[in-house]
Amino acid sequence: MSIALSVIIPIYNEEDSIEKLYERLKHVVSGLDVSHELIFVNDGSHDRSMELIRKLSGRDSSVRYIDFSRNFGHQIAVTAGLDHCSGEAVVIIDADLQDPPELIGEMYARMQEGYQVVYARRRQRRGEGVLKRWTARYFYRLLAKITSIEIPVDTGDFRIMDRRIVEVLRKMPEQEKYLRGQIAWAGYRQTFVEYDRDGRHAGRTGYTLRKMYRLALDGITSFSTAPLKFATALGFIVSMAAFFASLYVLYVKFISHNAVPGWASLMLVVLFLGGVQLICIGIIGEYISRMSANVRSRPLYVVRDLNL
Ligand code: UDP
Ligand code: MG
Repeated sequence: MSIALSVIIPIYNEEDSIEKLYERLKHVVSGLDVSHELIFVNDGSHDRSMELIRKLSGRDSSVRYIDFSRNFGHQIAVTAGLDHCSGEAVVIIDADLQDPPELIGEMYARMQEGYQVVYARRRQRRGEGVLKRWTARYFYRLLAKITSIEIPVDTGDFRIMDRRIVEVLRKMPEQEKYLRGQIAWAGYRQTFVEYDRDGRHAGRTGYTLRKMYRLALDGITSFSTAPLKFATALGFIVSMAAFFASLYVLYVKFISHNAVPGWASLMLVVLFLGGVQLICIGIIGEYISRMSANVRSRPLYVVRDLNL
């Protein structure tokens, strides 16, 4: 049986938001008047979240849940939801009501205009610390600069997408998940709606600085080889500098005769080796980047339509 709309909600210690979230979501989804399922993915919460979800599922048969054995992280929780959803359209939404469920109506309508992904773009963020806002702002811009695919700036995972996108994501078995990048990678027609992001409804952020750092690194390493190119470029620059420094060393040794015995040979060896080492690291890096592309084993292409 196919369902029109699946909503995936990752949950990590959200006991104070779940009821309210459910009510608002249910209101919006009922308003759309389509068959639906709400998939709660409990990512190893330590509070009463799971108990509340079970209660909801007892009351409402459209509430489904996946309960993780421990905390695996937000991106993995969403992935589990994607693996198990069956909607023609799929929404990913945070549980803390920072993503207003009311926006789903507008996103759903945009999708009917012929888009396969409609993401929600934050115009403003309220109730979040300077550090979070600042790191998010610059990180997304940096990432957009160094990747070849267009990962939209100022967006979280709040979005609606077509079944076809979900199928592509299921074919991307990579371990490091950076869903925003993967969805951008999938292509098709993508657009956005804008909104102001509120502060959390209740509770505390589950994204510690450490988790944010890991997500950022996953985003960069999964979608860019820029850091590697930087190492290679540095190798060549250092080698060039070493070459000119060597000329100077030779000058001091043979023309101005100011060299302390042993200095010249030592300098030459150090300079030469430094350059060689950096270049070799760059070469190894090129192989590693190709290996990691193979290990990720993404599909090579995604077909929109064909006539064979
Ligand atoms: N979350 C999760 N696992 C985690 C951390 C967070 O499933 O390890 C969920 C959390 O319950 C919320 C969403 O991911 O629904 C976004 O997390 P949070 O609001 O803490 O992040 P922030 O909005 O501060 O970036
Ligand atoms: Mg949040």
